[in-house]
Amino acid sequence: MNFEMTENQRMIQDMVQDFAEKEIKPNVLKWDEEQTFPVDLMKRMGELGLLGVLVPNEYGGSGFGYFEYVTAISEISRVCGAVGLSMAAHNSLCTGHILQFGNEEQKKKYLPKLASGEHIGAWGLTEANTGSDAMRMKVTAKKDGNEWVINGAKNWITHGISGDVAVVLARTGDLLDSHGITAFIVERGTPGFSGGKKENKLGMRASETAEMIFEDCRVPEENVLGEVGDGFVQAMKVLDGGRISIAALSIGIAKGAFDAAKQYSKEREQFGQPISKFQAIAFKLADMASEIEAAELLTMQAADMKNRGEKMTKESAMAKYMASEVSCRAANEAVQIFGGYGYTKEYPVEKFYRDCKLCTIGEGTSEIQKLVIAREILK
Ligand SMILES: Cc1cc2nc3c(=O)[nH]c(=O)nc-3n(C[C@H](O)[C@H](O)[C@H](O)COP(=O)(O)OP(=O)(O)OC[C@H]3O[C@@H](n4cnc5c(N)ncnc54)[C@H](O)[C@@H]3O)c2cc1C
Repeated sequence: MNFEMTENQRMIQDMVQDFAEKEIKPNVLKWDEEQTFPVDLMKRMGELGLLGVLVPNEYGGSGFGYFEYVTAISEISRVCGAVGLSMAAHNSLCTGHILQFGNEEQKKKYLPKLASGEHIGAWGLTEANTGSDAMRMKVTAKKDGNEWVINGAKNWITHGISGDVAVVLARTGDLLDSHGITAFIVERGTPGFSGGKKENKLGMRASETAEMIFEDCRVPEENVLGEVGDGFVQAMKVLDGGRISIAALSIGIAKGAFDAAKQYSKEREQFGQPISKFQAIAFKLADMASEIEAAELLTMQAADMKNRGEKMTKESAMAKYMASEVSCRAANEAVQIFGGYGYTKEYPVEKFYRDCKLCTIGEGTSEIQKLVIAREILK
């Protein structure tokens, strides 16, 4: 993209590229095959300021804006989408929720540890039977004296087992009442809170996805985020920002796939010439490059609006929808350009092909993004 980067963006790009090359790339395949969630790597990312990118300096974060955040996630995901996903979930969802809706005491207590990587964050909205339709959630929280008692299970939660701090959405009011849901901070080690089944996934295998179980889990009143009943509205706002991070993740995967395919097309010869000389292949690269830049422009538009504090529900949904679909098309064409070799683990494109699909599902499927966009444009 020809937009001039800010000095911070350039600095972050250089730093993250160097880090990803040295500390992620050599392990990508092993982590993926073994489904290892690299906790030590997360701690190292915390030391580099990558786990509190948007957290102000006063709470121990890097104090950057969304341009820098998009750059950091894209560059990590260019090498490993799974690490990019964990970074996005930690920063935008758990940390982002506490940053946006926590009171001063909660921010001081939790943000420095989340930003430094001492604590890994999780965010629980989804349940086994309520994904897109999160409003019908079954996890309940009932008031007992000055404590809340949480019961039920959350599914598909990034860092559901390894998370040290979780923001959990639970029903405190009537079913389908948009003010019947409340957000709670739950710390690992709280009696009645445990990690459950870890999912065995198609892609994003180095990012832990697991169940969180609550059995008469008691949390103090001071762990309520914002007002009782505001949880669902808060979650929708958190997802507005989160979608920018999934767009950034998608762009990183698309760029990784494009870079690999471009290079391979210049090296691989068939019929006495590099395959890049065949218009069929060159046009694939032209489509990929154009779509990636279009997705990047939409993402930067949403990031710019978020930086300026404007409502960007439509723009972040458009960025997420477009970038995730572009990512899947780019990864698909990259495998095609590699031919049979693209179908093996000798080259990185098969992993991009598996990882990218999550982007059209997590934090709202493509169909749900279209619902959000349609609702906004038809207002
Ligand atoms: C790797 C991974 C990590 C995740 N991390 C987290 C996390 O950290 N925290 C968390 O809370 N959740 C997390 N999720 C859950 C994720 O957000 C949900 O999977 C997603 O919202 C979709 O919900 P669902 O899987 O139940 O699909 P469903 O809602 O059952 O959707 C199934 C299909 O129906 C379509 N559909 C549903 N409703 C409509 C409609 N009204 N109109 C048109 N089509 C519709 C969907 O688009 C989809 O194609 C994660 C998921 C994955 C796979």
